[in-house]
Amino acid sequence: MTGTWESKLGAALRYGTAALRYTWLVADALKRFRRLYDLQAAGQAWERPEHMLRSLDLYNYTQQSAYGFMQDWLVRPRRWWLWGGGPFSDEVAGAINRCNYNQHNEQLNALAGLVSYGPAAYGNVWQIVGGNRQLVSGLLAESGATVHTAARVTRVARLADGKYLLAVTTGRPGSGDSGGGDVAREDGARAGGGGSEAARGQQPAERAPAQGGVEEMGYTQADTGASEGTDVREASTEELGSAAASGSADADAGADCGGASGAASSLLQPYQVTVTTLVAAAGLRPEYFGVAALPPASAVLVSDRATAPFSAISAKPVPAPAALGASATTAVAGNSSVGDGGYVYKVFSREPLPPDLLSALFRGEARVLASRRWYAYPRFNPPERFVPFVLAPGLVYGNALEPAASAMEMAAVAATNSALLMVRHLQAADE
Ligand SMILES: Cc1cc2nc3c(=O)[nH]c(=O)nc-3n(C[C@H](O)[C@H](O)[C@H](O)COP(=O)(O)OP(=O)(O)OC[C@H]3O[C@@H](n4cnc5c(N)ncnc54)[C@H](O)[C@@H]3O)c2cc1C
Repeated sequence: MTGTWESKLGAALRYGTAALRYTWLVADALKRFRRLYDLQAAGQAWERPEHMLRSLDLYNYTQQSAYGFMQDWLVRPRRWWLWGGGPFSDEVAGAINRCNYNQHNEQLNALAGLVSYGPAAYGNVWQIVGGNRQLVSGLLAESGATVHTAARVTRVARLADGKYLLAVTTGRPGSGDSGGGDVAREDGARAGGGGSEAARGQQPAERAPAQGGVEEMGYTQADTGASEGTDVREASTEELGSAAASGSADADAGADCGGASGAASSLLQPYQVTVTTLVAAAGLRPEYFGVAALPPASAVLVSDRATAPFSAISAKPVPAPAALGASATTAVAGNSSVGDGGYVYKVFSREPLPPDLLSALFRGEARVLASRRWYAYPRFNPPERFVPFVLAPGLVYGNALEPAASAMEMAAVAATNSALLMVRHLQAADE
């Protein structure tokens, strides 16, 4: 869309009332989700994601694909007032899903699809003046917690006294830059810890490459293998899962949810790889897109079925270097495309952008400022199966909710749930 009234009218005719109906469905799901804040404020916590989602009447959305959900609500119903469902599903919701999750409508669950469409439905998103990263540093300062960075947990073992031993390698997590094999002894209920012992015969947890841009991440036998010279009871992946399942009435109630069985395989989470590339360039080439001209700061989304070698492109005009901070000025110095009517483009793709694609996509000299390969979001797979929040008494897995929908707010409410679970655990231990 170019933003002209003709293109807006064309979109309104093509996507019809299906777009309005999907917006209403997003609003309905959000209304249910908002109940969570009152429940958490009252101290409610859930040991399994299924139970949280059932309390909010959102669980069923995770059991159906976004494609099937849109078929049921937008395409199949024969109503005189409903039209545009097919094109809307493929070209609008599908395009946004590829941008946000780099996955297709049939891969996504319906809840992830609704979350993904939220910013489009409401027409705005928020950002913090000075950068969203301040949210993290602000929360960290507020909490007073000690966070160990550049340290990778490679193994978790339960001690006889109920506390946990975390085996940690130093270096940058995810970089493969692991160092010394330190073992920091930590209280499983509190952040931070002291003391250290040497751990032998263990491997850092790795994300084993799999096919199709998807990689496995999770506990492996190597993570839970016995370590010599430490007075610990090793908690195997089987034990971690079954301890959670037998640890509470809550878990019993979830037997019909089809949740994690406790087998090691249920702790493996395939992640979708997304490569984020920042490119400084004077503009996009209209001929690549088969059009005569493009608006200056174009954003490009690709429909669900498109075979494009990227999943989204967005642009920001770059102010003149004088208006940038010193470090930014240094970063862009020498790049003729930046600060001189140029743009920085953010490109999402599954593979790094090859040079010939860069020159086909961008006008003039295109410079890659940065490129990063992320294990970005869970590879959704409805009907979703969830690992419990509580892996073992006093051991909480904060990411358990992410297969429902991956987003900052989901991470925030899952973290609140984790904290409430730990409070419950500590209170029980004190009694
Ligand atoms: C490119 C991209 C764009 C996104 N855009 C949006 C968006 O616009 N809006 C939105 O809401 N969400 C967005 N998301 C999703 C959002 O970033 C995630 O949902 C959120 O960061 C998840 O938070 P988390 O704390 O659960 O996990 P993470 O933020 O991934 O944090 C996990 C941390 O644990 C560390 N870690 C992992 N293993 C170990 C180990 N063994 N030992 C020690 N440390 C370890 C990792 O290094 C990492 O720092 C985006 C994600 C990506 C990748």
